[in-house]
Amino acid sequence: MSARSGATLALAVALGAGAAAPASAQLPVPGSLVPASGSTAVLGSAAPGPAGPARARLPLAGRTVVVDPGHQLGNHNYPREINRPVPAGGFTKPCNTTGTSTNGGYPEATMAWRVSRLLRARLADLGARVVLTRSSNRQDRWGPCVDTRGRAGNKAGADLKISVHGDGSTAAGAHGFHVIAPTDRAGWTHDIYRSSKRLAVTTRDALRGAGVPVSTYVGSAGLDFRGDLGTLNLSNVPTVMVELGNMRNARDAHRMTTAGGRTTYARALTTAARRFLRAAG
Ligand code: ZN
Repeated sequence: MSARSGATLALAVALGAGAAAPASAQLPVPGSLVPASGSTAVLGSAAPGPAGPARARLPLAGRTVVVDPGHQLGNHNYPREINRPVPAGGFTKPCNTTGTSTNGGYPEATMAWRVSRLLRARLADLGARVVLTRSSNRQDRWGPCVDTRGRAGNKAGADLKISVHGDGSTAAGAHGFHVIAPTDRAGWTHDIYRSSKRLAVTTRDALRGAGVPVSTYVGSAGLDFRGDLGTLNLSNVPTVMVELGNMRNARDAHRMTTAGGRTTYARALTTAARRFLRAAG
């Protein structure tokens, strides 16, 4: 979920539930990013896997992809930390939010984490260096803040960045995925809004091609354009945020909570990255 204004409300609900932060929690280091193990398949001379000539034939060799699994599972345990205002592209927003869940309680954080790991593995198999914006899915961790996630691709020298989310709409019948790209904002996204739109269209087409239903309730034909998201605004590399479905919808939830469904998402997102990078040359 990428709340337009509901972050504080969601946190208040979490607080009301009496969730307490473990005293011994290890906090993430601000700005720290986590290179994927797959990165060594490209960069590490001692890494297992294909030798030089074979490695060069891998379609994504030499490419860097940032995969951002959105909200940390423990965010609801750290209201003070995740409510802290951070830069979001000409304004501030809360560091992060709790994310949503299915009606059965399956968290968005866990869905995004599992899809992101599947995506990382597939991209690494194709030779890409993959950087995740978090290294765990734990109740005793929080973050990463939207400014860190927003700049993650810049720091990594990435060719693209994909942020993985699930939405939480209670509107009757609302279901399906949508892909969010940044609007053109001078001084922030003017350098990447066109390439990000291409990435969004490619991602939309790949998800639709994989049989995932297009959103019935947000955007147009599976695409939405927003200027209020720090995760997009702070990026200097092509970027999209994917809301893979509505977690409050039973059919979308089924897809998100089953291994087969998550594999479908990861495969489609891999296809999108490959097609986008091939077209980019
Ligand atoms: Zn989200």
